[in-house]
Amino acid sequence: MAHSHGFAALTKTSKLAPFNFDRRDPGPDDIAIQIRYCGVCHSDIHQARDEWGGSIFPMVPGHEIVGKVTKVGKNVKKFKEGDLAGVGCMVDSCGQCENCKDGEEMFCLKGCVFTYNSLDKEGKPAFGGYSDHIVCKEAFCLKISPKLDLAATAPLLCAGITTYSPLKHWKVGKGSRVGVIGLGGLGHMALKFAHAFGAHVTQFTTSPGKEADAKKLGADEVVVTKDPKALAGLANSLDFVIDTVSAPHDINAFLGTLRRNGTLALVGVPEKPLPVSAFSLIMGRKSFSGSAIGGIRETQEMLDFCAERGIVSDIELINIQQINEAFERVTKSDVKYRFVIDMASLK
Ligand code: NAP
Ligand code: ZN
Repeated sequence: MAHSHGFAALTKTSKLAPFNFDRRDPGPDDIAIQIRYCGVCHSDIHQARDEWGGSIFPMVPGHEIVGKVTKVGKNVKKFKEGDLAGVGCMVDSCGQCENCKDGEEMFCLKGCVFTYNSLDKEGKPAFGGYSDHIVCKEAFCLKISPKLDLAATAPLLCAGITTYSPLKHWKVGKGSRVGVIGLGGLGHMALKFAHAFGAHVTQFTTSPGKEADAKKLGADEVVVTKDPKALAGLANSLDFVIDTVSAPHDINAFLGTLRRNGTLALVGVPEKPLPVSAFSLIMGRKSFSGSAIGGIRETQEMLDFCAERGIVSDIELINIQQINEAFERVTKSDVKYRFVIDMASLK
């Protein structure tokens, strides 16, 4: 056992505060990583506040982890001491079911072990990346290119793969007409990827102050949706819409922007169900779908694509002592466009 130090929520109403705990020593298939940076995902807030139900406390959030390898087990092949490594939303899965075998461990039929707010195979709670180090199975660790800014790479481990994967699945490419709803952590990555894949991108935002940034990030068009009439001119115009919104909103208005046979994929996870009108779907044979993160193989593919194309997240670097303030700002859509914790601040 090695002592670890981090920040945790002790209950769903408590602020995050310093917390000491133990991590296992690396086994033969594990690596230990000294965490340098960890992104702050809206899922961290939903779970720390138990907005989805079933949260496990004490909770050390954080699943956008990058750092340096400090130890490797004897069977480890991909990493050596001193390498950069990343950990995203998952740390284990059964490896045997059809979904694991297809490289989609997030859909493991036995339930994958998430990086935090989850029990490992021994029934012990997993602790996440708002901490000084992590021990993880090599198979769930990602290679990180030294070419990219390390702090700005951290959000790729969740916000990056969660948006890259559905854009690939629904074959977004040159000539596709894509809509991105919400310009936050996930939204700005969806915008960057859709643009990089050659799509014509319309960014939807409730924040007029983000309009100019959306253009800089690659949007061909920006629609401020505060006024419901704003969508009227876009009826039947988009092939694929990715919805990254973290709170309840009118999904039917956005289904109306899809062309015949178009798909709207939810990646945002509001705490309450979203009412969908049958008429929004049947007239035009439209699909309402969803997607969760992405498998390890695809996450590596996404990281390699980012290294090749120089794609990273736009971040605000914070000290861990500012985490509660950062949570408040994220819930007010006031972040450009991802907070990342500099773990050097954790003393
Ligand atoms: P975020 O940075 O807070 O971004 C969400 C954006 O949604 C906001 O910046 C805002 O954009 C928009 N928004 C917020 N409240 C709204 C409202 N009431 N009505 C309309 N738009 C609103 O959050 P994130 O980290 O990108 O995460 C987004 C959601 O995805 C969260 O629910 C998170 O849990 C979920 N998530 C899912 C997965 C997955 O695997 N499916 C993975 C990670 C995260 P504008 O200011 O531009 O309107
Ligand atoms: Zn996340």
